[in-house]
Amino acid sequence: MTWKSQLANSITTPEQLAAHFGIDPEPLRAVSARYPLRITPHYLDLIEERNDPLWRQSVPDLHELVVDDLPEDSLNEESFSPVPAVVHRYPDRALLLVSGQCAGYCRFCTRKNRVGTAALTFTAKQIAAGIAYIKATPGIHDVILTGGDPLLLDDDRLGDILAQLHTIPHVEIIRIGSRVPVTLPERITPQLCQLLARFQPLYLNTHFNHPRELVAASIMACARLADAGIPLGNQTVLLRGVNDDPEVMIELCRGLLKMRVRPYYLHHLDQAHGTAHFRVPVECGLEIIAALRGRISGLGIPQYVVDPPGGQGKVPLLPENLLQVGETIKVRTNCGIVELPNRPLKAI
Ligand SMILES: *Cc1c(COP(=O)(O)O)cnc(C)c1O
Ligand code: SF4
Repeated sequence: MTWKSQLANSITTPEQLAAHFGIDPEPLRAVSARYPLRITPHYLDLIEERNDPLWRQSVPDLHELVVDDLPEDSLNEESFSPVPAVVHRYPDRALLLVSGQCAGYCRFCTRKNRVGTAALTFTAKQIAAGIAYIKATPGIHDVILTGGDPLLLDDDRLGDILAQLHTIPHVEIIRIGSRVPVTLPERITPQLCQLLARFQPLYLNTHFNHPRELVAASIMACARLADAGIPLGNQTVLLRGVNDDPEVMIELCRGLLKMRVRPYYLHHLDQAHGTAHFRVPVECGLEIIAALRGRISGLGIPQYVVDPPGGQGKVPLLPENLLQVGETIKVRTNCGIVELPNRPLKAI
């Protein structure tokens, strides 16, 4: 199947899901009316049973509708957005949001409120304004294409955006953040790899969360990218019932190293509405990092980070930055101490 037919044959309704798994669609309807649903045939095949780590990441769950304990504006990305398609929070780096769509909608997504909707889909004109902002801001040396998933653009459109960024003298590196190697590995065609190779130095960070995602098609996708000279990194989100276990994380990180994908970040879950059932206490994350040390090469140990709302960026979760660990945690950031919830919400 080509990547476009994989997308066309994806599951996007509770009825399709119910027919596939023999479950009742009714409870899923309200969830998928609120947050988008998409599971590619590739990813669907990886799910073995109800509530397994791959199911939990992709199948809508009633917990997403539970009223949680977060403030209304818990992410606060807009205040760092000089033009709609750009998030500029660090002086030297900027995000350019080039696609509002993803190959699969992760139930734990930080931007789940906007992903897959018009609110995250910018027009060609808005993206052009984003590129113009980057061009007019000489301090930006590193541009990260994100969204949504940039690799859902077709080659022509992606090539056009990359070419414009590549000609800006102060843009020294380009990064792409994409979950496509996990959810839609067919997208990583030889043509795409040739296209990306024209815009070096270009890095690609992908997003594997569980060792069962490291299957032949994904291994091949990463091999093609690496053979084209694209350095690969991985950002994992620490997720309850998915990878909150040292043995699972070790297997994931070792598998990634074998694929020439370097574990980059282990993200503590962001404070996004509808994701609190995935929350893992920080003690567990620290225990996982401690287990990795000594068991696996330093090359395979990601940095465990949290991105507190309103803080000036990601903070490594190291003992010296953790001032309190209990029902809530207190984290030292560049702009003061931030208090965050630290326990999963009780099950419904
Ligand atoms: C994470 C992030 C970046 C990139 O940060 P690195 O730590 O360099 O990978 C850039 N901008 C924003 C807004 C981010 O959240
Ligand atoms: S691929 Fe990334 S942006 Fe898209 S739904 Fe998943 S976490 Fe969100």
